[in-house]
Amino acid sequence: MTRTAPQWKGLTAREPHVAVVGGGIMGAMTAAHLLEEGARVTLYNPHVLGEGPGASVDTGRSFRVHYGEDRETIAMAVRSKNLWMAWEQKLGRPLLHSTGKLLLEEPGDRHALESWRTLRQMGLPADRLSKGAVAAEWPGMRAEAATVDRLGGVLEPLVILQGLQAWLTSKGVRFRGEALEVGPQSVTDQQGEDRYDAVVLTAGAWTRRWADVAMEVTRQELVYFDATALGDRLERLPVFSHMESGFYAIPTARDGRIKVANHHPGVEGHPDGDDRRVSAGFEQGARAFLAQHLPELGDAEVVRRYVCFYSGTADRDFILDRTPEGLVIGAGFSGHGFKFAPLIGRILAQLALGQSPEVDLKRFSMSRKALRGERKRLAV
Ligand SMILES: Cc1cc2nc3c(=O)[nH]c(=O)nc-3n(C[C@H](O)[C@H](O)[C@H](O)COP(=O)(O)OP(=O)(O)OC[C@H]3O[C@@H](n4cnc5c(N)ncnc54)[C@H](O)[C@@H]3O)c2cc1C
Repeated sequence: MTRTAPQWKGLTAREPHVAVVGGGIMGAMTAAHLLEEGARVTLYNPHVLGEGPGASVDTGRSFRVHYGEDRETIAMAVRSKNLWMAWEQKLGRPLLHSTGKLLLEEPGDRHALESWRTLRQMGLPADRLSKGAVAAEWPGMRAEAATVDRLGGVLEPLVILQGLQAWLTSKGVRFRGEALEVGPQSVTDQQGEDRYDAVVLTAGAWTRRWADVAMEVTRQELVYFDATALGDRLERLPVFSHMESGFYAIPTARDGRIKVANHHPGVEGHPDGDDRRVSAGFEQGARAFLAQHLPELGDAEVVRRYVCFYSGTADRDFILDRTPEGLVIGAGFSGHGFKFAPLIGRILAQLALGQSPEVDLKRFSMSRKALRGERKRLAV
């Protein structure tokens, strides 16, 4: 994008044609909402949705509404849950398994207490459980104490993106491959340059190819353990996480696995060219975490090792904004964006169509000061 590009003056077309560059969950949801608003949509992505090296490609993502005392984000998560329910209807399949989300507690854990208290004050279902109560609700599970977010659960990215691929196709989206150049009103690919009324950039770790956004791309290691030994209990098992160590576990009953990963940002990297090898040290830490909370899986077989990439901002809030020239950007989802995707898709579509976004976007501005500040830590 050149600095001399004209300033954005709003959208005038009656039936706008909008390009979305990047077909991870954010691009797919943006395209979907644009279609629902009557726009024509071209979606650029090098792969079929649900495939490729992007951050949205996996078998499980944690859904939670607990966000400490951050009521704005909690409200966004609750709104997203309702939107996921609506998408279950549209796609005709379950997308979010409501298993609950456990925040494992330390003695005197302030974050857990604040999370529980805030949820209860907002009238949302949450409980504080003793060791005995955890074991009674989820036999075989061990935790000294935990806060449970009853709205939490497991989202199925693959099922969601495959469903969206079919849905978008049925609604007439025009699919194109890799974008070579992206501007506020044009996209160039191998077939040449196309002009649009608006362009939305949702290219995840590749965003900085076209936009100067303050985010770092970090390498996150993942280890998937065979959890079939749990039998039927796997289906009901909650997502569980530990704030201090950053470790978390996501059970995916569909493939009989539990994924263990760490939410703290890893070393800088990029999906292009990375070898995706998991270190022995990380695997050991992941196994120890699993064994501590599900001792019967202490010796479980590792069925997959993988490396995924966070696009993180310093304050861990997202970037949802429009450049002065008019390019709409959704980026910096900082390892916790998936759960908000149906809401983010709506917001980015609203920005592209020149409508007022349904959420106050000040904290998501690409020029906010906090983006240049110290890296903040976020709970899982
Ligand atoms: C390991 C891991 C675990 C996570 N766990 C959770 C969780 O439990 N809960 C949660 O809420 N969130 C979680 N997240 C965060 C969430 O998954 C991401 O925020 C979200 O998937 C980002 O989606 P995206 O569409 O912005 O990016 P991506 O999914 O990366 O999509 C970007 C797309 O752009 C495409 N692209 C790149 N270059 C071009 C080009 N030139 N032309 C066209 N397209 C291009 C890419 O191929 C890709 O398909 C996790 C992320 C990771 C990496």
